[in-house]
Amino acid sequence: MSAPGFGLYIHWPFCKAKCPYCDFNSHVRERIDHTRWRAALLRELEHYARETPGRALTSIFFGGGTPSLMEPETVAALIARAGALFDFAPDIEITLEANPTSVEIGKFGAFRDAGINRVSLGVQSLVAGDLKFLGRQHDAAQALAAVRMAAETFGRFSFDLIYARPTQTLAQWQAELDRALEFAAGHISLYQLTIEPGTQFEQAVARGDFRVLDEERAAELYEATVARLAQAGLADYEISNFARPGQESRHNLTYWRYGDYIGIGPGAHGRLTLGAEKFATRQHRAPEAWLDLVERDGHATRQRDLVPRAERLSELLMMGLRLKEGVQLARIEDEAAKPLAQALDQPHLQRLIEGGFLALGDNRLTATQQGRQRLDAVLAALLA
Ligand code: SF4
Repeated sequence: MSAPGFGLYIHWPFCKAKCPYCDFNSHVRERIDHTRWRAALLRELEHYARETPGRALTSIFFGGGTPSLMEPETVAALIARAGALFDFAPDIEITLEANPTSVEIGKFGAFRDAGINRVSLGVQSLVAGDLKFLGRQHDAAQALAAVRMAAETFGRFSFDLIYARPTQTLAQWQAELDRALEFAAGHISLYQLTIEPGTQFEQAVARGDFRVLDEERAAELYEATVARLAQAGLADYEISNFARPGQESRHNLTYWRYGDYIGIGPGAHGRLTLGAEKFATRQHRAPEAWLDLVERDGHATRQRDLVPRAERLSELLMMGLRLKEGVQLARIEDEAAKPLAQALDQPHLQRLIEGGFLALGDNRLTATQQGRQRLDAVLAALLA
């Protein structure tokens, strides 16, 4: 279970409303010309297919924004065109992110017929007041109805919850988690609430409307979460993601294993290894400018930078140490183009191992649970 895979990410930048915690590239528009958007996404896909001939796709991910607001015809056209441009791995995973409103649930059958075989639902909470606080458009009953419908319609599904909310106690979170686990199957994502720059929540915290949980309380909730999920048979294969064996998100594993992926649509990122070199790509972020550029040039690439070896090493570690499986030592040597002893500063590494944050074994470098909880600080110390 460690081939990095080759993925395709498709960004749909529109939502019905902007959630106050969200810093994704998502926008609210009264009217969307779906025909124009479909044609432009297809053109940008063709552009990147010309850069990466002869490779087999292991996953496609429709993210956003709210891709369940796309017309199923657009999703079908993109999957069909990807199938014409690339080989598909036999077990290709094709995921669509969805919000649990009735309109979107009503399209599940059409999305399945389009080729979607996994959905990831943005449930976020099962508590009415907290859904309101998070600015969500659905209630808990709708969310659970959507989860049931996802289970009936698609082979695989996941849903997200956000915890460590401002006034949440351990007992409240445990009760909510127990309820969620009655509905979970192979995969669930559990994110701690973070306050991102430029969001409505950032302003609310600055005004003093609420305070985030302190680090100690948040750590207590995290540890209880990992323990409860393990008891339910879902391993913490990544910091915020839990799965039964074999049910991990293959697309996200490609990111975390530092594999290659094409990113199309406004603001989408990509990583492409071409020969011995790796490139970081990013598409124009503003939806209307992206659309105009694709119609004019066939793509709206804003950035296409060579990733230097030192950055390849730090990106590999930044992504890979989020995973419980860690990073193969051979990959460290490959990305850094240096033997291990030169790629990583040995005294820094030793100190982090002795401190209980990192571990070496089985030809891998892994972060311990303690290390994964403080990964930014661990990486800063390792790569200093
Ligand atoms: S629905 Fe998702 S992408 Fe859209 S604003 Fe809310 S959190 Fe952001």
